[in-house]
Amino acid sequence: MSGTLFVVATPIGNLEDLSPRARQTLDTVDLIAAEDTRHTGRLLSHFGLKTPLFALHDHNEEQAVDALLAKLNAGSNVALVSDAGTPLISDPGYRLLAAAHAHKVRVVPVAGPSAATAALSVAGLPTHRYCFEGFLPPKQVSRRARLAELASEPRSLVFYESVHRIRDCLADLVTAFGADRNAFIGRELTKMHEQCVQAPLAGLLHMVDIGEIVAKGEFVIIASGTSSAVTTSINAEPLLVELAAHLPPKVAAKIAARVTGGKPNELYAHLLELNKARED
Ligand code: SAM
Repeated sequence: MSGTLFVVATPIGNLEDLSPRARQTLDTVDLIAAEDTRHTGRLLSHFGLKTPLFALHDHNEEQAVDALLAKLNAGSNVALVSDAGTPLISDPGYRLLAAAHAHKVRVVPVAGPSAATAALSVAGLPTHRYCFEGFLPPKQVSRRARLAELASEPRSLVFYESVHRIRDCLADLVTAFGADRNAFIGRELTKMHEQCVQAPLAGLLHMVDIGEIVAKGEFVIIASGTSSAVTTSINAEPLLVELAAHLPPKVAAKIAARVTGGKPNELYAHLLELNKARED
């Protein structure tokens, strides 16, 4: 009989967020597959646990999966953890889980923290439907193209962002979604310097520029989805493109906004993105 693969969420900052069940699972499995064995080693020693660790990260996943499957098939119980939060949520583990299902290994989630759900829970933005977008492309051209694709998404959008790109990312969000789109930044969630701020995108950018939102640590950005009025305007893309073929972009955006009830600045930004994507 094969062993069980437990997928265990670990804290995203505050170590008290490790659930008793997660702790017990990490204590009793035969092996813990960890993204970074040194990092997880520190978590284990904090809780006085001595379970053996096995490295499983993006660069060795293929070979590591074979070794872990062999152990599971031989009856060992294995826990999968990442450095922080829930494995597979912008973290390694996909291949292992796919292989476990293919080999009929029992998989068990040990649910717990994730930066995305922590942020959604306090953002004060619509959460009945949302899209997890994870990390945007690091290069500006690709990032802008991705955001242009998402500009008409009606669901709230959840992004992970690194400290190095937080300002550029917000600036691109303002361009793509418009200055007034309501949004949220969760910084250093569950940690000592936690910040949770909801404001229009341009306001968040300004707060980063003046240091009110400190550009240090880890960030989740949530942008609310486009409103129904904007949906109407973005759906008017063919009209916008047709008008822009004959008129200056600002005039095209203004007329398209008048016809569809959309916002001229958002349509103008959308048009610039379309032109840029075409040039790229
Ligand atoms: N698997 C993790 C989860 O469930 O949230 C996410 C791992 S991903 C590699 C790391 C990113 O998650 C960070 O760059 C940041 O965007 C976000 N993140 C993780 N911890 C965070 C925290 N305490 N506060 C805000 N964002 C955090």
